This record gives sequence, C-alpha cells and structure tokens, in this order.
Amino acid sequence: MQYFDDLVRLLQSYTAQDVEAITRAYQFAKRAHEGQLRASGEPYIVHPASAAMKLAQFNIDAPTIVGALLHDVLDDTLTTEQDLMKTFGTEVTFLVKGVSRLGQIRHKHAPAEEVSEREEHTRVENVRNMMIAMARDIRVVLIKLADRMHNMETLGYLPPEKQRIIARETIEVYAPLAWRLGIGEWKGPLEDLAFPYLYPEEHRALMERVEDSSRNRAEYLERIKPIIRDELRREGVTLLAIQTRPKYSYSLWKKLQRPEIGDSLALVYDLVALRLIVETTEACYAALGVIHKLFRPLPGRIKDYIALPKANGYQSLHTTVFGLDGTITEIQIRTPEMHQEAEYGIATHWTYKASAERGEEKTLGRERQFRWIEQLRQWQRAKTPQEFLESLKIDVFNDRIFVLTPKGEVIDLPEGATPIDFAYAIHSKLGDECIGARVNGIIAPLSSSLKNGDVVEIVRQKNKKPSPGWLDVVKTASARDKIRSKLKPHR
Ligand code: MN
Repeated sequence: MQYFDDLVRLLQSYTAQDVEAITRAYQFAKRAHEGQLRASGEPYIVHPASAAMKLAQFNIDAPTIVGALLHDVLDDTLTTEQDLMKTFGTEVTFLVKGVSRLGQIRHKHAPAEEVSEREEHTRVENVRNMMIAMARDIRVVLIKLADRMHNMETLGYLPPEKQRIIARETIEVYAPLAWRLGIGEWKGPLEDLAFPYLYPEEHRALMERVEDSSRNRAEYLERIKPIIRDELRREGVTLLAIQTRPKYSYSLWKKLQRPEIGDSLALVYDLVALRLIVETTEACYAALGVIHKLFRPLPGRIKDYIALPKANGYQSLHTTVFGLDGTITEIQIRTPEMHQEAEYGIATHWTYKASAERGEEKTLGRERQFRWIEQLRQWQRAKTPQEFLESLKIDVFNDRIFVLTPKGEVIDLPEGATPIDFAYAIHSKLGDECIGARVNGIIAPLSSSLKNGDVVEIVRQKNKKPSPGWLDVVKTASARDKIRSKLKPHR
C-alpha cells in the first residue's frame, strides 16, 4: 500500500475522476501481476507504480499515468487487449500497446570490427528515430522512459551480463531520447545510473578525483551566492531562485575525453555551476549584464539560447565568468517557463494546467491526441516553415522506413524498399542467396514494397546467385552495387 499512497500524494492537482481512474488502474495492475516478483524480490506492482510516480512528478495527464501502471500487463500477464479496452477504453489501450510494441525493438550492439563508428552511430540514431516514429504518440515514449528509469534504478539485482547490455542500451538509446524530447531531468540520471555498469574502473577513478574537490566547491558556492543575490537586488532584478546545478558524472567523464579539455578537471567549467531563475526574458538579459559587471566573462563562452533555442527547444542564457578568486564559474539564466521546459521538455505539453484554466483544458482535449508530428513541430520550435521542413528532412525520415528482423533488430531503408534491399542491408551473402521472404509471417514477393514496422524474414538457398531482374526492383544503391558486382563475369 505504501506505493499506492505515495502515488496518490502526487495527484493533488488532479480531478476526483482522474484519481479514481488511476486507482482503478493500480488495482487492476496489482491483481494482474499478483504472485509475480521483481528480481529484487519485491512484489511486481512496485515497478509500474514507480514508473507512474515518475510521470506524476511531471504533472502529466491522467491517461499517461494509467498507461504507466498498466504498461507490462499485455506482455507479462494473462490480460488481453480486449480486457484493457473494456475496462480502460481506446486511449489507454493505445498507449499500453505502444509501450509493448516499443519493447520488441532490440538494439543490438555490433562488435567494433564489423562496422565503422559512423555506421554504428547512424544505426543507433535510427533506433531512436524509429522509437519516436513507431510510438506515434510521444506519451508512449514517456512511459517507456519512466519504465527504463526504474529498471536502471534496480539494475543491481540482475546478472552482470544483462546489466551491461541494458546499461549500454540506456546510454546509447534512452538517454539521448530523453535529451531529444528535452527532458533534461532524466538524461543525466539515466546516464549516471548506467555509467558504473558499463565502465566500472573509469567510474571509480573519476569519483575519487571529483570527491577531492567537491568540498571546496560547495564552500565556494555558498560564498558566491549572496554576492550575486545582493547585486541583483541593488540593480532591481527580482531573483526567484538561485540553484546549484546537479553534476552528472557520465557527461563529465565524456567531457574530460575531449581533446581540448585534455583530461583536466580545471578546464571543465561547469564543475562550478549556478542557475539563476528570474521573472521575465528581459530580466534574463538584465541579470546577465549584472553578472558581467560583477565578474569578467570568459571570451567566447556567452551563449544566447533564448534568441537561438537549441534543437530540442531548450532556452537559457549561458555565460562563464572568472568568479571569486578567479574561480571559473558557469552561470545559466532563465525564466520559470524556460526552466520547466528544460527539465521536463515535451512532457510539459501534457501537464495539467492550473485549475483556473481547467475549463479551457477540456477544449484542448482533441488537440492532445495530435499525431506525433504535430508534437514534434512544437518541440522543434521552428522559426519558419522552411526551417521546419528542413528539420523534418534531417530528423524525421518522411522518406525512410524502419523494418525489423525477426530478432527485432532495426533496419533503416528508403521508402519503397524491397525484401531484396532488406537482405542486402543485413549482409551481402544473405542478399545473394535470398529466394523468398516472409513479411509479418506471410510469404511475400521479393519485389514487394516494405512498410514501416514490418517484420521481415528472408528465405535463403545456399550458393544461389542474384538475378539480373533484381536491378530493376531494388531501391538502395548499395544493393544495386552488390548485385552488379556479383553478376559481373570474373576475369
Ligand atoms: Mn516495465
């Protein structure tokens, strides 16, 4: 019951009707998972309840919390889609099905000698893009991320081999996904939870190095805070909050490896980092002026992400200054709205509005179901339609499809690609020897066009040669090249 009480405590701003629906989902999930235990030995309900709580902290809409509570019932219990439809309706069923579908995607890490770093990078990027595309609704990805957060928190109970696989997938797929959705609050923790499992030695060494300087840092911050606070007050800038920013060890470790940093902790500016929250955009610029009057800025380190937001919608002013005793100090300045967006990102678009706006929220109900592309537009915050279209081209694959191997590996292909392209994309030998294909379990012609999300299995025959007719059918240049070279008579 403790978990249920904790969850309900987070629901103070929700309507009685929503709390009722969430309660029903909790009881449903608890019953469905009855008798199942987590690797930690705890009753299974602890897991969906924890995922739901992570989302409730964002004040996310009620169907997403209900979906989080039910996210494992289709895969791990006897509950059917029909059961869910009957009890919770289409929206929740759609979310739960989406999460279960995403769970089937496996990101396989290829051994280094098989693929170049660039190829590997593209492949990982594809997995992320595909997750967004397949989810169709960003809320599905949010539930999946909350699920992963709790799995990472309890990773210690799994065998070492599994720990490494899950930790790697978290760093390569889930943390960047959180970043892409603008959820800064989850990116750092996901990476830091994975870090010690993936690089135990490096993690231990870094922790030792950082601990030495951390006490000095804390003292320094307590000295500089009142000076900034007083000066802002004198200049008439209302300071809502001054925060010490959390330090994430994995991103620090990555930074130390950059050539220009050369493993020097002193050169990692944001080791000493403050965040100022002020009322308005104007106040952000005013505060920046005050800071620069107080402390000399480092050249080239002033960044105006208010005028030029990052691709994921992030806004703030950044500067790095020579602070007290010349200590290099990084400062971020933002409004509460920018802060909300930076921490919770896309999730803020589904948050409960203050009760005064609740009426208006109802009329927005339809809009909430916008397709993911609509949401993407919001989050990209494109300045002009052209820029938006440009970003779509880079990020959103309107001319790409994502097809799965029977093992759930993702293959990225151009639209209209055939099973032959698919076979060659996996391995040239598989391409040469393919004689047939099963698409979603059904025999399909080798010339058929594949669709997003198709599961394709290639039927092969040993020592078979490609047929010249394939050249008219294939869509990828690489398949065409491989067929040509195989057809060429040997000298
Ligand atoms: Mn789960």
